[in-house]
Amino acid sequence: MAKQGVKHRSQRQVEDVNVSNRSADRNVLQSLVTEILLALGEKPGRNGLLKTPERVAKALAFMTQGYHRDIDQLLNGALFPIEYDEMVIVKDIDFFSMCEHHLLPFYGRVHVGYLPNKKVVGLSKIPRIVDTFARRLQVQERLTVQIAETLESKLNAHGVGVVVEARHLCMMMRGVEKQNTIAVSSSMLGAFRSQPQTRLEFLKLIRRGSVSDSD
Ligand SMILES: [Zn+2]
Repeated sequence: MAKQGVKHRSQRQVEDVNVSNRSADRNVLQSLVTEILLALGEKPGRNGLLKTPERVAKALAFMTQGYHRDIDQLLNGALFPIEYDEMVIVKDIDFFSMCEHHLLPFYGRVHVGYLPNKKVVGLSKIPRIVDTFARRLQVQERLTVQIAETLESKLNAHGVGVVVEARHLCMMMRGVEKQNTIAVSSSMLGAFRSQPQTRLEFLKLIRRGSVSDSD
């Protein structure tokens, strides 16, 4: 009984609840950054800080632009019918995001694999999907699941696997101050979840040092 909702879980979650139609309000951001500088005991009027509120507002707007990206528009014209049914992998996709708990960056790499079901997506679109969800306030686990569920639903794929490896500045610069810790999260859907050999193949392929390695 408790599992009744599981089947439709991905459809529900993939609804992009974080999307906002409203662009970042740069004027408000600027004056708030001035407030932050004052609260820190700084002098916003001194030379080095004169343009800081403007720069920070601009940077924040850029780093959260994923709120205003539309996945369907992004994929428009980039889905191709195909009979290919072997695993497709795009690995080592660099990303930069910001943790929603501290507003500090976390960054690293995303590895994506899927088993096509009569259609594939243009390979360059996968990093753009990653960026769409990374350029928001995030937690690593949600970022991982959003990428996986979006691919599963938009491609109707037989299975999707996503692994995210990241360093979090909120762990490195403060708190536990663990500079070399890498957080790894994964989301395995469809065949990647139900078939251990599919999952293993994916994990083996993303661990290879380079595509030219022989083992
Ligand atoms: Zn954090």
